[in-house]
Amino acid sequence: MPDPRYAVCGDNATLTEPQRELISIAESLGPTFAERAARYDREASFPFENYDDLRTSGLLGLCVPERFGGRGADFKTYSLVSATLGKYCGATALTFNMHACSTLWPGILADDLDMTPAQKAEHEAHRRVHFERVVKQGAVYAQPFSEGSAAAAGKAPFGTLATKVDGGWLINGKKIFASLAGAANYYGVLCTEDRPDRTTRDTLYMAVPGEAPGLEITGDWDPLGMRGTVSRNLVFKDVFVADDATMMPRGVYFQAASRWPHMFTTLSPTYMGIAIAAYAFTVQYLRGEVPGMPPVKRRMYPTKQIAVAEMHVKLEQTRALFLRMLDDARVDPSKDARLRAYATQFTVMENANELCRLAIRTCGGQSMLKSLPLERLYRDSRCGALMLPWTAELCLDRIGREALYEPGEVDD
Ligand SMILES: Cc1cc2nc3c(=O)[nH]c(=O)nc-3n(C[C@H](O)[C@H](O)[C@H](O)COP(=O)(O)OP(=O)(O)OC[C@H]3O[C@@H](n4cnc5c(N)ncnc54)[C@H](O)[C@@H]3O)c2cc1C
Repeated sequence: MPDPRYAVCGDNATLTEPQRELISIAESLGPTFAERAARYDREASFPFENYDDLRTSGLLGLCVPERFGGRGADFKTYSLVSATLGKYCGATALTFNMHACSTLWPGILADDLDMTPAQKAEHEAHRRVHFERVVKQGAVYAQPFSEGSAAAAGKAPFGTLATKVDGGWLINGKKIFASLAGAANYYGVLCTEDRPDRTTRDTLYMAVPGEAPGLEITGDWDPLGMRGTVSRNLVFKDVFVADDATMMPRGVYFQAASRWPHMFTTLSPTYMGIAIAAYAFTVQYLRGEVPGMPPVKRRMYPTKQIAVAEMHVKLEQTRALFLRMLDDARVDPSKDARLRAYATQFTVMENANELCRLAIRTCGGQSMLKSLPLERLYRDSRCGALMLPWTAELCLDRIGREALYEPGEVDD
């Protein structure tokens, strides 16, 4: 049974029955994921076995709407399940984010957006293709957006181009940090329609098969943390995809990014889970209850008690903001909710790392040996604040600007 002290939502009392069921599936997979995590981290290898388990348990279809055969999880339910996985294996939770959002965004999130009847019909047909791959064939999707330019931050059009040809599109360009490189069956690529005077409004979201001719995976992968994500480069040279590869109709991704900003907070659940894991480890360690360690208690020292109290306060502050943000998320949120979304992403990412730092300091030298999970949590937690489009820096940038300027306001 999961320990309710460490559940993402505490005692889960306010959750719906389907939310409780999905979280309990994630909890049941968690201990095995935690056992495997050290190996994926050491080898910087992809967690294929975990994905087999996610497939068998039905969680690959978590965010596929029920009428397409999935579990129909909404944004909040997805986030709680993802944070639950994050307690056990950060790399699995982070890559699961890329996969699950490839179904959440074209799924219930797109239902909130304006489309013409023709776009709706197109979207319905195309997303059925994508959802059926996930639900019937157990396909896994990645989300390679980053290019090393200002594009992934939303400040410039993507340099990867899609050129219209008979029956489909030709894709050319390069993506960096493509989590699930070599593991995904499809890469959900953000690119720009090849037309004169291109802007971010011309962004297209395309599913490229992993086996497509012209797609090459390049570069090595030996990073500080989140090593199991295997986030290598993708190079596209005249890669052909059929018309039904578009995961959203023309212009709809741009609309989603503007009107459903919480879509960019979906990385934070992973790090919320890591923060909880760091706190849980500390309590277990100071109580002398870590499996495989001598049962030496360290909890009787006042400095340890104060450190745990500080960690507890920080964790509760982080969790409170996180849970509030999950309830705020909707299309066209208020300014207040939008600013809180930035503040939440910033807080979760920075506090996850801070909690891991405090955990190492208070547990001490033995706690950071490779045989224990804490040093991995520490390294993994460092990566969250770096992830575009809402890095910690960019969250501050947006809060400062949007708090001080109303839309359209300029200085003389
Ligand atoms: C483990 C891991 C997995 C990842 N997986 C994926 C993935 O699956 N898909 C994907 O698309 N990307 C992924 N990324 C990439 C990630 O989202 C960022 O794109 C990447 O970390 C940016 O690295 P960079 O050095 O090129 O950043 P740069 O673009 O050089 O930016 C460096 C920093 O400068 C700041 N900055 C950037 N642009 C601006 C601006 N316009 N104004 C002000 N400040 C700015 C940001 O704070 C940023 O952190 C992953 C990254 C990591 C670490």
